[in-house]
Amino acid sequence: MIVGILGGGQLARMLVLAGTRLGLRFRVWEPSPDAGTTEIAPTIHAPFDDAYALTNFVRNLDSCTLEFENVPAALAESIAALGVPMRPSATALSVAQDRLSEKTLFQRLGIPTPRFAKVDSMADLRAAVELIGAPGVLKTRRFGYDGKGQCVIKSASQVDEAWAALNAPASNAALIYEQFIAFSRELSILGVRSSQGEVRCYTLTENHHAAGILRLSIAPAPRVSPELQSHAESLVRKVMSELDYVGVMALELFESADSAGGLGGSLIANEIAPRVHNSGHWTIDGAVTSQFENHLRAVVGLPLGDCACTGHSAMVNVIAQMPEAGASCAIPFLRVHDYAKKPRAGRKVGHLNVVAPDATELRRRLNELRNANLVGIDLSALGKVAFEPSP
Ligand code: AMP
Repeated sequence: MIVGILGGGQLARMLVLAGTRLGLRFRVWEPSPDAGTTEIAPTIHAPFDDAYALTNFVRNLDSCTLEFENVPAALAESIAALGVPMRPSATALSVAQDRLSEKTLFQRLGIPTPRFAKVDSMADLRAAVELIGAPGVLKTRRFGYDGKGQCVIKSASQVDEAWAALNAPASNAALIYEQFIAFSRELSILGVRSSQGEVRCYTLTENHHAAGILRLSIAPAPRVSPELQSHAESLVRKVMSELDYVGVMALELFESADSAGGLGGSLIANEIAPRVHNSGHWTIDGAVTSQFENHLRAVVGLPLGDCACTGHSAMVNVIAQMPEAGASCAIPFLRVHDYAKKPRAGRKVGHLNVVAPDATELRRRLNELRNANLVGIDLSALGKVAFEPSP
């Protein structure tokens, strides 16, 4: 079976690595010459609106997926129209591409989400701040990632500054203003849905960011009751069912101690990612079936795999530059994932997984890793993780 992947970054690379073991073959389409898949799968380098590349790409494909939500929804539609099952669909993709449609969907499904308002002009922004209050977050509706394209407004006097910071008039940006959530921590839940509608979920994962970039994920998230886990599963299940979604989806959540200013729940939905997700990289070494393998199983119509954890896991992103392999491979419990990317400031170039039999041993190993002082990793968030056992 040949699977097409739109986008050729590290997520595509890890999909190819997982799928190759299942005997799948791949064809990747990545506009940039600098792809993470070039050495491991046939990769077409052409702009996404290149009709000739489209013909070459779809030839004999059994199904198609994506690793990046900003591929044009029209391309996903064209691929489906050419008879190749597109998973997830162009509809799911277009909802996830726009923060306004995403939050409108959460609202329609009764999923708590920050209060929000559409902002297309300065007058809209003033009205939104009046209605929702400050603090709040002004965001571009499309193409934001790793905290880019957003600005916190602490008081009404900062609207001009925020408007200028997002360069709204020049880029003709469509914006959204959201209530600021004073969350106690950030969690995510990953679900996988088959084309027959079967859903399986991974454990809730606790995520720590710095400068807008994910640094550390802990799974299972500490202090999660079975009720909270099943509540989170019900939320991602609702979204996937509504979109008749096929594949892995991540739902990013804020956990709030005080039911978030009357939003009606301790879990508040921030956004969905219609693809495998950075907060699920621990599953490669810490779950029976990784998110990459499960995504592909869904995409090609194989039975879904077990999402159960095989231990207590942490995933540490490596930013800018990989540690020297001799040093990282010398740490016996460390699983090194190198995306073979050129070093660059702020760039995710790999990740390190640590799996331990229990939370105490996981904490001990992470402290040992911190003391090893490897280049490219920032474990300052470790101090914020409360490793108590689950209730
Ligand atoms: P996003 O691009 O929406 O995932 O936002 C990036 C990060 O900004 C999130 O992981 C949060 O840490 C923070 N953030 C986003 N939206 C809000 C909000 N409404 N309230 C508080 N923090 C937010």
